[in-house]
Amino acid sequence: MDEPRNELQDLGEFGLIDRLTEHISLVQPSTIKGVGDDAAVIASDDDTVKLLTTDLLIENIHFDLMYVPLKHLGYKAAAVNLSDIYAMNGIPQQITVSIALSNRFSLEAVEELYTGIRLACKRYDVDLVGGDTSSSQTGLFLSVTTLGEAKKGEVVYRDGAKENDLIFVSGDLGSAYIGLLLLEREKQVFRANPNMQPDFEGVDYLLERQLKPEPRKDIIEMFRELDIKPTSMIDISDGLASELHHICSQSKKGCAIYEDKLPVDPLTYQQSAAFAIDPTTAAMNGGEDYELLFTVKQSDYEKLKDRLEITPIGYITDAASGLQLISKKGVTYPIKAQGWNHLKNEG
Ligand code: ADP
Ligand code: MG
Repeated sequence: MDEPRNELQDLGEFGLIDRLTEHISLVQPSTIKGVGDDAAVIASDDDTVKLLTTDLLIENIHFDLMYVPLKHLGYKAAAVNLSDIYAMNGIPQQITVSIALSNRFSLEAVEELYTGIRLACKRYDVDLVGGDTSSSQTGLFLSVTTLGEAKKGEVVYRDGAKENDLIFVSGDLGSAYIGLLLLEREKQVFRANPNMQPDFEGVDYLLERQLKPEPRKDIIEMFRELDIKPTSMIDISDGLASELHHICSQSKKGCAIYEDKLPVDPLTYQQSAAFAIDPTTAAMNGGEDYELLFTVKQSDYEKLKDRLEITPIGYITDAASGLQLISKKGVTYPIKAQGWNHLKNEG
């Protein structure tokens, strides 16, 4: 009889990771945290731990060179990887970069990519210390690995949220997704008529959010300045809803989020209408914001309440209450995780 065959699309990305990693046993005493957070945590000296994270970006899955300039791609690839170190409340220090290229790319093109990577390194004080170079039959593959550091007691995990903790996000949500829709729309227009110039007037901010995200180093610095340690934290790569699910499932808690508190930029609000998308949907499920989602004790509210770079959006509840969104009209909806899921066929 044939072995049963399970389809990857039925598992989804997170289901697949769970299956692949469930039988991994850790043997090194220095491995403090393996799979399951934004970065692994590794014992270093008495005072510090090392943080380690990696991302893989594939042409036409994660980026489209029709509208992503190579310099931006390099910058973004480094920036989003650094974001995972900040999400642990750590400081990134070194990166390695691995690339695979087809002969479709010229030296000048790859140099553009590296100009972007170097810019991100300079902006965030990290050293590029190695990598690997290979050829590919088609398309560009790009992988960035970051090594960072944190003081031992400062590391913030996804699983530390406690009931009644306040939930904050940095920046605004949904704008990177609307930026992506704008770029996709102009691509279709260009395909239909290559003489058409893209119509990007007044939407620079949204394009920048998609093409050149900035990881929130400043938020980590704010925590140091205010002497605050969040109880849990994650960066928003797959969308707020998906990240709330990670925090709540790992912390074994629920949450209540207020729709009217979600930080949505006026331009995101305005441009959502052009795509008949509810701005709340863009904020909850858009993804690629690379903002930080974190929880703090209620007693930290006084220190945080006047900070314009962050917004309180709700609070942590018990697990039995589930994840709830309280709409502007006061109606409660369950929050479904609809992160980017390349393996799943659902809409
Ligand atoms: P993030 O979005 O923060 O980069 P991911 O959702 O990609 O995190 O990964 C979740 C966790 O699963 C991380 O701890 C990551 O290291 C781990 N992980 C992802 N893919 C694999 C894999 N193929 N093998 C082992 N661990 C993996
Ligand atoms: Mg992350």
